[in-house]
Amino acid sequence: MKEFVLKGIPAAPGIASGQAFILDKQDFIIPVRAVMKQEVPIEIARFQEALLKTRQEIAEIQNKISRKMDGKHAQIFDAHQLVLEDQAFIDEVIQRIEKDKFSAEYTFSEVLKKYVKIFSNIKDEYLRDRVHDVNDVGRRVLKNLMDESKLHELDNLEEEIIIIGHDLSPSDTASMYNKNILAFATDVGGRTSHTAIMAKSLGVPAVVGLKNATLRIENNNFIIVDGRQGLLIVNPTEETRRIYQDVKNRIKAFRDRFQEIKDLPTQTTDGKSVVLMANLELPEELPSIRQHGASGIGLYRTEYFYMNRVDLPSEEEQFKAYKYVAEAMHSYPVTIRSLDLGGDKFISSLQIPRDMYSFLGWRAIRFCLERPDIFKTQLRAILRASVFGKIRLMYPMISGIDELRQANAILEEVKINLKEEKIKFDEQMPVGVMIEVPSAALTAEILAKEADFFSIGTNDLIQYTLAIDRVNEHTDELYQPGHPAVLRLIKNTIDAAHAQKIPVGLCGEMCSEPVLAFILLGLGLDEFSMSSLSILQIKKMIRTVSLQDAKDLAEKVLSLSTGQEVEEIARERVKQLAPEVIQSDQKETRSH
Ligand code: PEP
Ligand code: MG
Repeated sequence: MKEFVLKGIPAAPGIASGQAFILDKQDFIIPVRAVMKQEVPIEIARFQEALLKTRQEIAEIQNKISRKMDGKHAQIFDAHQLVLEDQAFIDEVIQRIEKDKFSAEYTFSEVLKKYVKIFSNIKDEYLRDRVHDVNDVGRRVLKNLMDESKLHELDNLEEEIIIIGHDLSPSDTASMYNKNILAFATDVGGRTSHTAIMAKSLGVPAVVGLKNATLRIENNNFIIVDGRQGLLIVNPTEETRRIYQDVKNRIKAFRDRFQEIKDLPTQTTDGKSVVLMANLELPEELPSIRQHGASGIGLYRTEYFYMNRVDLPSEEEQFKAYKYVAEAMHSYPVTIRSLDLGGDKFISSLQIPRDMYSFLGWRAIRFCLERPDIFKTQLRAILRASVFGKIRLMYPMISGIDELRQANAILEEVKINLKEEKIKFDEQMPVGVMIEVPSAALTAEILAKEADFFSIGTNDLIQYTLAIDRVNEHTDELYQPGHPAVLRLIKNTIDAAHAQKIPVGLCGEMCSEPVLAFILLGLGLDEFSMSSLSILQIKKMIRTVSLQDAKDLAEKVLSLSTGQEVEEIARERVKQLAPEVIQSDQKETRSH
């Protein structure tokens, strides 16, 4: 088998090699998902759309087959079309969605099961065989209704594998935590998409936006994933394997070199201290977070708690998880972000269809304000856990002061209730705002008066400012953290926070890049929060440079016109001042 190379977008660094496992999207677990009354028409519309799409798919297959073979084979699919047009079947699904108020996929699968049973019991052999058609069609409709691949076939896997998927949902990646996953590669996705974030928290390389990897790679092909350059090398030759083994060893040596500074202060050569914290997705990351010397959790993404389950996490369950993390971090702060649903973070267990929360839609704090039942449960759990450590709360996607006030009003109600119940909590628990919507960055001086701290979420701030979808591989070239508009918004936010004497952090992917972190240092950022694997590299950079150098550079880049110029000039400066933090082997592998 000949070696070939696929080029994608580097999403999580590192090199991995192993067998490919192409994610099979054919197996479904259908969660029991109740819907609200007003969502019934949406579920019915989704069902009808899925039927239409399935009919089109089958017609296309029929066309192709009849062109290539004789008409007889194409006729097999007539039976499929007949199932899809069975009015009694369709009506039953619609009536049951209306009456029982469950999701389209769940209702459809229940009705399907009933039909399969009826067919299986028919005496006539020909008709009994039609059960296969009913099942086949059912799977197609379900595939079109459910966009999250289900990974239960992974549960039985023993060997180490590289996951290749068209897309991976947050619940897919969350369910991979304890598996032997060496790397991820996906056809779609951008560098700040959840696949990238989860790969970093698992500490494995990832390449996204490969376009057609799932079609070009076959199960069990041996591949090398180069997460720094965004490459997949399929069927590598002995020579390529040897080159990559060398690179892998060098990366390890590069990372190990920083281990010796783990317990030293994070301070510039002229005495400016900053705080380096870790982002946390799942409590399983705590050992790595400690091992890399994080001084706290700057972002605890709580969405993962709500994934891969059919019910909502209870207050008690959440309380235990938050308490566990707070205690594990001892006196270091743990910044818990309230539920940030929507956009790329979708889940199936909540009683909302996914299409209701697009990036610009009903998401994050907007969702929580409209569903105080869910929000309050989480706030109670966070407050109760606050006596066991140094918990801070922050709200995602705040777009203006009104939302902050509304969220705080609900928090106050929860506090009053806890007091009435004589349940202890930290009355001084800091409450911060994520600055990730341009309107929040532009009105930061208003928000700063009513917030205890800020945390800039550049993954979203960049997407909203530059109008680029963070999960879309086609806009990757436009993802420019150094874009003058982004830098100005960050500067405005930092200045507004400092004018009110509140600390300001940044928890987007941007601050794990030494060159960009150097600019942020110069802009006056107080706290840097990132995947734990990057902490020591950033620490080394900070300990090697002076604040004055960083300030000079920040001032200079603020006067530049393009993101590219900003990054080039900053890179040159970091190379001069702290060459050891720039990994030198970037260009040493083959340039494909
Ligand atoms: C961000 O938007 O930068 C952020 C840190 O949050 P998330 O990636 O979870 O949206
Ligand atoms: Mg965000």
